[in-house]
Amino acid sequence: MDQNKIDALRAQAVLPRGHVIEGQLVHASDGASMDILSPIDGQVLTTTAKGTAADMHAAIASARAAFEDKRWAGQPPAARKKVLHKWADLIEQHALELAVLGVRDNGTEINMAIKAEPGSAAGTIRYYAEALDKIYGEIAPTSPDILGMIHKEPVGVVGAIIPWNFPMMIGAWKLGPALAMGNSVVLKPSETASLSLMRMVELALDAGLPPGVLNAITGEGAVVGEAMGLSMDVDVLVFTGSGGTGRRLMEYAARSNMKRVYLELGGKSPNVIFADAPNLDEAAKVAAGGIFRNSGQVCVAGSRLLIEASVHDDFVAAVSKAAQAMRVGDPLKLETDIGAVNSEIQLQQNLGFVDTARAEGGNVVLGGSRILQDTGGYFMEPTIVTGVTPDATLTQKEVFGPVLGVTAFETDEDAVRIANATVYGLAGAVWTSNLSRAHRMVRDIKTGVMHVNTYGGADGTVPLGGHGQSGNGSDKTLHALEKYTNLKTAWIKL
Ligand code: NAD
Repeated sequence: MDQNKIDALRAQAVLPRGHVIEGQLVHASDGASMDILSPIDGQVLTTTAKGTAADMHAAIASARAAFEDKRWAGQPPAARKKVLHKWADLIEQHALELAVLGVRDNGTEINMAIKAEPGSAAGTIRYYAEALDKIYGEIAPTSPDILGMIHKEPVGVVGAIIPWNFPMMIGAWKLGPALAMGNSVVLKPSETASLSLMRMVELALDAGLPPGVLNAITGEGAVVGEAMGLSMDVDVLVFTGSGGTGRRLMEYAARSNMKRVYLELGGKSPNVIFADAPNLDEAAKVAAGGIFRNSGQVCVAGSRLLIEASVHDDFVAAVSKAAQAMRVGDPLKLETDIGAVNSEIQLQQNLGFVDTARAEGGNVVLGGSRILQDTGGYFMEPTIVTGVTPDATLTQKEVFGPVLGVTAFETDEDAVRIANATVYGLAGAVWTSNLSRAHRMVRDIKTGVMHVNTYGGADGTVPLGGHGQSGNGSDKTLHALEKYTNLKTAWIKL
């Protein structure tokens, strides 16, 4: 990446953005728009359409019509594959533009965003482009006078609600498999990070995706998201975001057409350090990266550090050193390790969690404050709190910010008990040289993904899904296709 190119892109004005309905860029039906603030300097970056329930209904109606007339699902697989590959090509060709636009909108450091956003999104779309002509139905082992066939059909209209931390990556996790199966999709990006995802939708049209197959509506979750959740004409709702919103979506489904609801929610992931870890210095550096990159705004962030008591003090010192070496600042500078917090509200919430941790007896051994306030942006120091008990707020509640809670443990049983002491079950890690212990921890810690002697970095070949209140179903891999598929039995008497 070239800093000059990044600087040139950041200097460009960002045009106001509308919805995408039936292949057209349109304003909100009542003309309303909302300001988009950049977390880098707190200034207005541009505006987006502030959608109404009527806008959402129009997008759903367009998606329904596109599904029913089979303008996408009715095309031969080879033709649909070509469009999705073209889309991935365009995302790659516009990678830097998309990444810089996204960073101006959500504050993620550019060196992470370039890989995690356009890079990952293009890879995901390509993965499902390749998958779509390898999906076969089944013949059931019936008695000889019957032919039992199991067809795999698209479900219809998919509603996808996306959070702000990695809009393109997470958007692609939903769009790739949904479109590969032949569904139509209505997308609802986050209020505080929609720009790169909306641009990605425009690129889908450029790639030849027929109008109406992918519509996107910006606006407030409580307005347009609710209208989507309560719609009688959305068949599947897929969501990544907070548990509170996920709960609402299940209620909306129950109050409307009982649409299927798949949730990828938050976490409070334990990173468990045993004294026999192969390399404690390396573990400390990776642990710091595992919580502080993207200012902790990562669903699988290792936000709870569980350290075997005999190495607790040394390890805390090593993680603090590694965290201090990470540079917080302008996310569009290549040397920055930790960018901006997404919004003022999120920053205030993070600081509130630090106050609560102090009040509950935790020791803030690093950070704890807002910094770089003169920039007008939303920046926070990497923060480490020790002495966090299993029932403390910092153990039980997701911060979604750069705040690491540390708890000491004595035995393997203690480690498992504390690791499992939350309602979440998204991710975790164990660091040990003992092979049996590593496998026991993978088996006994209740999460969707466990890392051993590393943290994070899982690629598109493995699923991501939460256990417990971290969600249901999985994103990524062929497993994700099930969410966007109906099975149909044909029972034929011969
Ligand atoms: P959020 O729940 O506030 O918002 C997510 C989306 O839901 C946004 O698009 C928002 O507009 C919409 N929304 C809000 N209220 C709604 C309503 N009443 N009806 C319908 N839609 C509504 O979450 P966020 O703050 O954007 O994202 C952070 C959360 O996402 C964290 O909890 C994080 O852990 C989680 N997350 C999970 C994963 C995962 O894969 N499990 C990945 C990334 C983020």
